[in-house]
Amino acid sequence: MSAIHVTKPALAPLDAFARKLESAWESGVLTHNGPLVRELEARLCDYLALPRLAAVTNGTIALQLAIRALGLRGEIITTPFSWVATASAIVYEGCRPVFVDIDPETLNIDPAQIEARITRHTSAILPVHVFSNPCATGQIGEIAARHRLKVIYDGAHAFNVRLGGQPLALAGDVTALSFHATKLFNTGEGGACVTADPELDARIRRLRFFGHDDARNIVDDGTNGKMTEIHAALGLVNLEFAAPVERKRRSDYAHYLACLGSAPALRFQRIDPEACNHSYLPVIFPDEDSLLAAEQALLAESVVARRYFYPALNTLDRLFPYQPFPVAESISRRILCLPLYFELGIADIERISGIVVDSLARHSSAKRATP
Ligand SMILES: *Cc1c(COP(=O)(O)O)cnc(C)c1O
Repeated sequence: MSAIHVTKPALAPLDAFARKLESAWESGVLTHNGPLVRELEARLCDYLALPRLAAVTNGTIALQLAIRALGLRGEIITTPFSWVATASAIVYEGCRPVFVDIDPETLNIDPAQIEARITRHTSAILPVHVFSNPCATGQIGEIAARHRLKVIYDGAHAFNVRLGGQPLALAGDVTALSFHATKLFNTGEGGACVTADPELDARIRRLRFFGHDDARNIVDDGTNGKMTEIHAALGLVNLEFAAPVERKRRSDYAHYLACLGSAPALRFQRIDPEACNHSYLPVIFPDEDSLLAAEQALLAESVVARRYFYPALNTLDRLFPYQPFPVAESISRRILCLPLYFELGIADIERISGIVVDSLARHSSAKRATP
């Protein structure tokens, strides 16, 4: 039996991808904001109900372009519970990440702790919609307005999330999306910057193209963040299947929760099932030992779960001077993401859940037996 990994990209049939590439092969246009990139941008705007969207090479570059387009300097407040790219994009743009602990239920930055970390050097807040669960965007927006700060959301997980019917990606000044192979919608590598502001969008488009304006004059301090036609073609054919992929995630998530519900020691992220895309299945264990035992039990059955996010970013003391953030550190030691992807079968979900539940039961009875 082949191994089950935490995720597997949802891919359109290979011949559909090949057909989509024919026009590029004929024209020889492979990049430079070609027709396939423009088509993908337009189709994503339709699908996600957005006024505009700038496709870029990846989600990390999307964060960097957002920081640069907003002219941010000094300190940027962010979360220690994320993928390292959230903090390293800040550092790459010459700014300093200032961490704020997370809420133990939502796993997002705790809005009540943000203001205490604002100094005269703070220029922005950069929260993450963790596992697509929307941040407290209203409260964060009020804090930002009070202190004249910009807000960038790391929406790498938050593809097609709506909050009260509105696209979540329109919250804040810019939202960075990722279309990496492991994300709900993928272009292999890819990402996008989303903003409601047409001038900011124009600046992001210049910055992703070396700082060129429409007349090919260099007018801005840019970089190369252009998506290629090959990646756009993959995105276009994958987008055809986005709706069934999203629907299956929703029902698989519910099935997992029903199967895991018999283990009272397990906890789950508090989510609003309507405002979330169920792209991940994070499970919070009572302690790190029980997580490690379950991880090993899964591995013994060729199931490869992943510790997202571990370790907490504030503990990366080669990158950042250590400061304690007890909630993020505790959660990151105890959270494991179980396999969840389009091709995963119901029987797999039941088998994986069974391994976790059995492992926990064995672990807690072993613990009771040791005085
Ligand atoms: C995947 C991810 C990124 C980076 O996106 P890439 O497209 O891989 O560069 C940033 N933040 C979070 C939270 C992610 O999960």
